[in-house]
Parts: sequence; structure tokens; C-alpha cells
Amino acid sequence: MSLNLSYVDYRIRQRDYLLSITRAIVSRLNLRAVLRLILQASVDMLQGQSGLIALSGPDGEFAFSASYGLPPALVEAFNPLLEEIPEYDEVEEFSIPDMAERLSAIAEETGLLLRQVVALPMIVLAVAGGDKTHEFLGIIFIFRSHSLRFSPDDRQVLASFADYAAIAVNNARFYEAAVTERRRLDALLESSADGVLVLRPDLSIERLNRALSSLTGWSAQDAIGLYHDEVIVWAGQVAKPQRAVVQSKLRLEDAMEEGWPHREERTLYVEGDLRRRNGSFVSVGITYAPLLGRSGRLLNIIGIVRDITRFREADVLKDTFISVVSHELKTPVAIIKGYAETLLNPKARRNPMLVDEMLEVIADESDRLARLVDDLLDASRLQAGGLPFRDVEDVDLRGIIRRVVDRYQPQTQIHTLHIDFPESFPTIRGDPQRLEQVLDNLVSNAIKYSPHGGEIYIKGEAVPAEVILSVGDQGVGIPLEEQERIFDRFYRVENPETRATSGTGLGLYLTRAIIQAHGGRCWVHSTPGQGATFYVALPCETGLALWQG
Ligand code: ADP
Repeated sequence: MSLNLSYVDYRIRQRDYLLSITRAIVSRLNLRAVLRLILQASVDMLQGQSGLIALSGPDGEFAFSASYGLPPALVEAFNPLLEEIPEYDEVEEFSIPDMAERLSAIAEETGLLLRQVVALPMIVLAVAGGDKTHEFLGIIFIFRSHSLRFSPDDRQVLASFADYAAIAVNNARFYEAAVTERRRLDALLESSADGVLVLRPDLSIERLNRALSSLTGWSAQDAIGLYHDEVIVWAGQVAKPQRAVVQSKLRLEDAMEEGWPHREERTLYVEGDLRRRNGSFVSVGITYAPLLGRSGRLLNIIGIVRDITRFREADVLKDTFISVVSHELKTPVAIIKGYAETLLNPKARRNPMLVDEMLEVIADESDRLARLVDDLLDASRLQAGGLPFRDVEDVDLRGIIRRVVDRYQPQTQIHTLHIDFPESFPTIRGDPQRLEQVLDNLVSNAIKYSPHGGEIYIKGEAVPAEVILSVGDQGVGIPLEEQERIFDRFYRVENPETRATSGTGLGLYLTRAIIQAHGGRCWVHSTPGQGATFYVALPCETGLALWQG
């Protein structure tokens, strides 16, 4: 059996080798180190001097991955051994044609003493869909410098080492695939625009991705390990009255008490306002999905957290639109209907003064309706891309202001409107009707929002390249935090003094759009309780091209 070892010694050594190889595989030594160990053991057990292991690459080609007892620089010279390896069905059929000839050519080229060679395939059994297949992972070669041929027993011994080598290679491949898969998953989670939350079965946080960190204000470092509702904090109440709080009744714990996820519906959707770490709120919808093990045991709960602020805003806007429109339409329609019905009564028509008065009210209310419809149409056009301009010409703003003041002064006894313009005031290029719409809105607001009356100043100032108009009143004013929002669509300030004032919240939205289309700006200064001054700046050489194109 062996040249200088007793059979028992030989078996013991073989067993020791196999044991240390098993340990190396289990303790996850790197693949190269395990292959070298296997080669060393095989060479020793087979009384050889050197050996090589070739592995098959993704393209099916073989390449040497480990060597023992050979100068590394010469390994390449052994490549002819890997050429044209025939297909085979049984391990016993495996052979490399003309191996002896190939070996002597290599020996000649390298000057190495290589007399005998044995080669065995490294094979693992793969079970896929009930079918067993053999996977050919590589080849192990052992060389002798003396001429004693390798016996069938030697092949047998080598086969056990080849099996171990195949297992090590296979493990390494699985490990590599798992690492790649994990990296891919990490990249996917981290780059996801939606928040991702992974919970352990006890509902503590296992991980959260970058999107969820920025949504909640919790870094992964701080959040991991916390109980989920320390980070996912549903707002019971929100301080701001304008904000509708949606709190779905179903909390994760409640759902789990009711048996989720061991029920038909696997995912759970929870929606509401989430309190961020800094105390602010964000509307989110969370879809929870369980990750169950094979036995049905809960391994993880994955939560996908989506910022639904935009949907909620769109919802609120839609509701506002409906309530504004129905409210604003109701009053003039009721007045027109009431007066018209009165006029249908021949008795009421006997007093011509009364008839005139009623007809005037009907005409005024019809104008109000027409304005409302115009504003709504303008707002929808603006949403769709832009406001149409009718004429573009040189406009004398003073003429427009005079007309607006003449229209409003007779309607109020408690306000006094003043016009204050310098002697010479430049004309600007613009659409006179749109500019009148702006001033009409600013002056009517100044009156509407100073319910106790007062002075209203409409001033003009020419500075280089710009004219600045201002409309100042002594009314209720606007809190600082609302001063930007009043230019939003449908936005109206909650103020007990002006709650009854009619309005759509579209006037300033359209005002800003018209001024911006003229290449200008508008803003407000206000001290609540003392009044507000709205400013409009328009370029003198207005960017005509801006809105003719
Ligand atoms: P509307 O007057 O139809 O409500 P606007 O868009 O013209 O709509 O104005 C939006 C809101 O801005 C008003 O509801 C009001 O709360 C506030 N506002 C506008 N002008 C004034 C003003 N001169 N003084 C105080 N508040 C004002």
C-alpha cells in the first residue's frame, strides 16, 4: 500500500488530514488556504511531490487556483493539461486524453522532474427541482517525480480529498453569492426613495434605510434596537387647526393581537401623521408585510413607508375648492334669485325706485359671479401652464388706479382712499386689463380686511428701472408665518374679525402670477392688528418677450 508507512499509520494520517480540512472548511478559512491544505494532504498521502487545483470559471473554462510544491512562475506552463477536457457521465469515466504526453512536454519545457500524474474531478451533487445533477467544479492533479504509477487505491484516497475540495469550493461560492446578494439588497434598500423599516418579531427595529432616516429624523445608529413606536410615532393630535389629522385606527400591535399576519390578508396598511424626531409632522402611509420562515414562524416585518403629503395636500385642495366654490356661488345666486322673484311680483314693481335698486343689486351680484368664474378659470389656466394676456401696450398705471378708486370709494363710508403718485411717473409695458385685475384685488382686499375702516394709501414710486406700487391699510394685518402662504391657491387666513368676509383665496395667487408674468415681484409687510401694505414692483422696460412668447 505504501512505501514507508504502515497501513494503520497511513489511515490515521489520512483521517487527521480529513479532520483538519473539515475544520478549515467550517472555520471559514479563505478558499485558497483550504485548497492549499487539501493539496498538501493529497500530495503527502499519495507520496507525490507537487499538485495543482484548477477551478472552472463562469465561462466553463478551467484555470489553476492553487498549487503546491511548484514554483508559482511555472504554474502557467501546466495549462496544456486543461485543454479539451472531454464530457463524461460517471466520475469513473473522467480522463484527460494523452495526459502522459502532455506531462512530458510540460516537464521538458519547465525542466521539472515530472514523471507520473493523476487527475480527478471535483464534483458536487446539486438537487434542483427533484432532479439530481452533478456539478463539475474543478480538477485536482497530483504529480510524482519518481516513476511509480498511481494505483487504483491512490485514486480512491485522492477521491476523498477531491470531495472535500468540492465542498469547500461550493461553500465559498454560496458565501460569495450570499455576500453579493446582500450587497445588492443593501444598495436597493439604501437607494429606495421610499422609507424601509425592518422589524424583528418583538417589534424592535432591525434596520431602517436612508430615506426613512431623513423622513423621520432618526439616524439608523440611534434607531436600531429601539421599539418600533419610539420611531414611528403617530400623532394623536396636531396643534395646527388647519391640518386634518388622519389616524388610521389600526396600529401594528392591534393588528397583531387580532392575529395578523397569520390571516388571509398578508399586508397591513396604516396611514396617518407621523411625528418626526424634531416634533414636526409628515403624512405617511406604511405597508407592513411579514417575512415568514418555512414553518410559518415570523422572522421579520418589513414596513414600506411612503410620504403621502402631496396626496393629502391634493385632497385638502380638492375639498377646499369644493367648499369655496359652493360657498361663494351660493350667496350671489340666492340674492339674484330672491330679488328676481320679488320683481316677478307686480306689487313690488309699482315702486320704480325699489325696482332700480333691486336691478342694481342683481347686476352687482352677477358681476361677482362672473368674477368668481373668471378667477376659477384663470387659476385653472395657470395650473395648466400660463395666463393668457389680451393686449400688451404702454400702460399708465395712474389711470388704472384712478378707475379702481372711483369704483370702490363710493361703496364705503368708513374707508378713505388716497392716491399718492409723483408728478412724472413712467408708463410700463403690460396688459392693462390684467394690471387692473391686480390693483382691483389689492384695493378690495384693503377694504375687506379693515372691517373698522381707516385710511387706505395707494402709492407709486419710480426707482431706476422699476416702478413700485403699494396699497396700505389699517386693518387686521397678517401674522408673519402666514405672509408667504396667502399667495397660495385657496389660502385664507383664519381671523375671527374677518371670518364672515367672502373670498376664494385666489386673488393674491393670481396677483402674484400676473406680476411675475410681467417680470415683476410682489410681497407684503404687515404688523398684525395694525394693517398690511402690499407691494408690487414692475420693471419699466418690462420683459415683453417673457409673456408674448
Ligand atoms: P380672498 O380675499 O378671496 O380670501 P386673497 O387671495 O385675495 O383671497 O387673499 C388671501 C388671504 O390673505 C385673505 O383671505 C386674507 O386672509 C389675507 N389678506 C389679503 N389681503 C389682506 C389685507 N389687506 N389685510 C389682511 N389680510 C389680507
